[in-house]
Amino acid sequence: MFKLDTIISLAKRRGFVFQSSEIYGGLNGCWDLGPLGVELLLNIKDAWWKSMTYRDDIEGVDASILMHPRTWDASGHTKQFSDPMIDNKTSKSRHRADNLIEDHIEKLIKKNKNDEAKIIQDKLDNVKENSDYYNIIIEHNIKDPISGTMDWTEVRNFNLMFKTYVGPLEDSSSIVYLRPESAQGIFVNFKNILETARQKVPFGIAQIGKAFRNEINTKNFLFRTREFEQMEMQYFVKPGTEKEWFDYWRDERWNWYLSLGMKPEKLRWKKHEKLAHYANMAYDIEFEFPFGFGEIEGIHSRTDFDLKSHQEFSGKKMEYVDTVNNERYVPYVVETSGGVSRGLMAFLCNAYDEETVSDEKGSSETRVVMRFNSKLAPTTVAIFPLVNKDGMPERAHNIYKDLQKNFKAQYDVSGAIGRRYRRQDEIGTPFCITIDGETLNDDTVTIRERDSMQQIRISASQIKQYIMDKV
Ligand code: ATP
Repeated sequence: MFKLDTIISLAKRRGFVFQSSEIYGGLNGCWDLGPLGVELLLNIKDAWWKSMTYRDDIEGVDASILMHPRTWDASGHTKQFSDPMIDNKTSKSRHRADNLIEDHIEKLIKKNKNDEAKIIQDKLDNVKENSDYYNIIIEHNIKDPISGTMDWTEVRNFNLMFKTYVGPLEDSSSIVYLRPESAQGIFVNFKNILETARQKVPFGIAQIGKAFRNEINTKNFLFRTREFEQMEMQYFVKPGTEKEWFDYWRDERWNWYLSLGMKPEKLRWKKHEKLAHYANMAYDIEFEFPFGFGEIEGIHSRTDFDLKSHQEFSGKKMEYVDTVNNERYVPYVVETSGGVSRGLMAFLCNAYDEETVSDEKGSSETRVVMRFNSKLAPTTVAIFPLVNKDGMPERAHNIYKDLQKNFKAQYDVSGAIGRRYRRQDEIGTPFCITIDGETLNDDTVTIRERDSMQQIRISASQIKQYIMDKV
């Protein structure tokens, strides 16, 4: 298994991900996507959007990030969207108490101390109040990873919502929040969409958009950031049918990752033992990152909590009227909620590979290759003239311009062909096309496939169709 640093350095070197405002020393928990990163991001979102909304029963929406503050009272975020925070007085470092305990459990498991790990896990699953976290930390002698001391404060709640003000006055009546999840923009639009799209239950609403959380600790690159994007879908069902839809959406979402080349052995399900206040069933899809398994998407059965709560707080009916069966009810919701940037990081880790190959002169070298599914690869095709003369660059450039109408393409003339292949392997370009002397005679080119490195000759006029068929 490679290290996370390998991915971070490739991401920076090749223009996938940069630190936010790097010239000023960066801003913790914020990252910028470079030219290749943004292509990968768009491809992930595009694949998700098509799989979720190119069907009869799901509509899209793009809700505003700032919402009426009552939204967050209704959703429970103003009161409950907080993490338990603990400070170490010696190192002045701040931690999420639950994460601190979880990291300790991981360490015990690595040391084969499974009995002790299980005892702590049971206690963690049964935490009722902040003092329970504190007691676990003290009883099990969980030290600060920085100072190595037990010099802890009490555990306090820390609300994760970013606050700001609308309009010129900074007083309590003008407070708004940057949304901490995109889901509420869907719930408040339930009636609008039901009526305008003329849908019938069961149906869903999908959205991709930014969310903001003032996370206590940001760590592990894109895994936990303060600004991130979510791709969420809320599926409205008749109460009593939620189990069947929950199972359906679990399968759909799992298979979506596999269809984009995620290795099945890198994925696992995690059942939530401790459910959020709104849920009656919840599972996470976890991916094995270099630092261990972590959630990339949650599938939650949210009951009628959100719609009922908005009905109560807004005074507007959130009922569905089934005219065929003459029934009215507030629908239950099954939600699929994935992080786009966390998913992007999982796809980066999943794609990374190193292998030993022999170079043109017969000696061996290491090939770094990003084995992206061709639908996700930031560049689909690269075009090279074999040499920079004899009419080859002109013909190659011509083919490049033509392919650019359909695909994200790169044109590269510099260095030996082997070097140019390696550069494309490292960014995961699935196809490379070389224009050589023969091209000028019979208009054929070589097309080289990234994973097998096999080359075949095809007519220049067939390139587009060839790639379309493969993608
Ligand atoms: P965690 O337990 O890791 O904080 P969560 O259970 O609070 O996550 P959800 O509220 O279910 O996460 O959010 C759904 C998805 O949004 C997650 O599966 C994840 O992919 C993404 N996500 C949540 N928080 C962050 C974050 N701080 N940075 C990046 N992605 C995030």
